[in-house]
Amino acid sequence: MQTYDFIIVGSGSAGSVLAERLSASGRFSVLVLEAGGTDRRFYVQMPLGYGKTFFDPAVNWNYKAESDPGLAGNVDHWPRGKLLGGSSSINAMVWIRGAREDFDAWAAAGNPGWSYADLLPAFKALEDNEAGADEWRGVGGPLHVSDCTDKVHPLTRRYIAACEQAGLPFNRDFNGAAQEGAGTYQITTRNGRRMSAARAFLRPAMKRANVRVETEAMATRILFEGSRAVGIEYQQKGQSRTARAGREIILAGGSINSPQLLQLSGVGPAALLGDLGIPLVHANENVGAHLQDHVGINYTFKGRLPTLNQILRPWWGKLLVGMQYILLRSGP
Ligand SMILES: Cc1cc2nc3c(=O)[nH]c(=O)nc-3n(C[C@H](O)[C@H](O)[C@H](O)COP(=O)(O)OP(=O)(O)OC[C@H]3O[C@@H](n4cnc5c(N)ncnc54)[C@H](O)[C@@H]3O)c2cc1C
Repeated sequence: MQTYDFIIVGSGSAGSVLAERLSASGRFSVLVLEAGGTDRRFYVQMPLGYGKTFFDPAVNWNYKAESDPGLAGNVDHWPRGKLLGGSSSINAMVWIRGAREDFDAWAAAGNPGWSYADLLPAFKALEDNEAGADEWRGVGGPLHVSDCTDKVHPLTRRYIAACEQAGLPFNRDFNGAAQEGAGTYQITTRNGRRMSAARAFLRPAMKRANVRVETEAMATRILFEGSRAVGIEYQQKGQSRTARAGREIILAGGSINSPQLLQLSGVGPAALLGDLGIPLVHANENVGAHLQDHVGINYTFKGRLPTLNQILRPWWGKLLVGMQYILLRSGP
């Protein structure tokens, strides 16, 4: 069994940043276990590929929620990335920080260092914002953020104008002084390619000798000695393997998989684990509870101006947009 200073389960948004930060000094060895495979795929790198990866089981856990009475019994599709970069490799690339009020509430609940003012220097340091630096935005960081104000579909401008007529304030920068209002998103792309957390953080870290990334490696259990987590058991190519951590094991498998792995390892609600025959290591009712979803609603209208739907439906439309992308790295 090999020993590393840190073992990170999951190479998504959180795992990629942690792998980069923890390995930067060169003093610590880091193992990253990723259940999915490579992010070097055309539809992952091309921003418009979002529509393909949204349901693609090769890169997506494709979870289904249970039938929800609050949604008239509907069953929701819950995509989650299953590849290097995790959900940041299949997400919609919208660059919006969390709400100031949420961070401030965390700090007020007794977590020093987590207020918006505390975090602002980190937000600024991590980005390379095409819109330039100011009191709120940063340049020169590892994550490139594109400004697409001038590149949006003509209907977007009409939509924003309509929002203003309806009394919503125009917002030039959702990552600026206030988040409320209507405006154009900043997106995480660079030169027409997706700027995932893997591209910004993990891939540079993978060039270091002290970082090892195992793909197709599904963590199945945290190994405990008494109440101390000391290793990870994982499945790779049909084989069960183990790795040991001298310092820490970090679960970065996302909001669904991390609590699941804790429960499989005996950390969770005692009654639930008892029913499932999982030996209890540490009882905690909160593991696997309190998930908050954000529900989105699509409004669908028929328009007189051609939208992406009309442009992309015929084969020649796809071909034209594909050629524009390959030759000019531009287009929808
Ligand atoms: C379709 C979609 C659109 C989105 N759009 C946006 C957007 O526009 N803007 C925005 O800010 N956010 C968006 N999000 C949300 C954002 O991408 C996520 O909040 C963020 O990526 C979550 O980061 P994470 O590190 O918690 O998990 P993830 O990035 O999901 O990473 C978890 C990783 O852990 C791996 N893993 C899980 N379990 C195991 C295991 N047992 N063993 C080994 N590996 C494991 C997974 O395969 C995955 O790679 C979107 C998400 C999705 C799915």
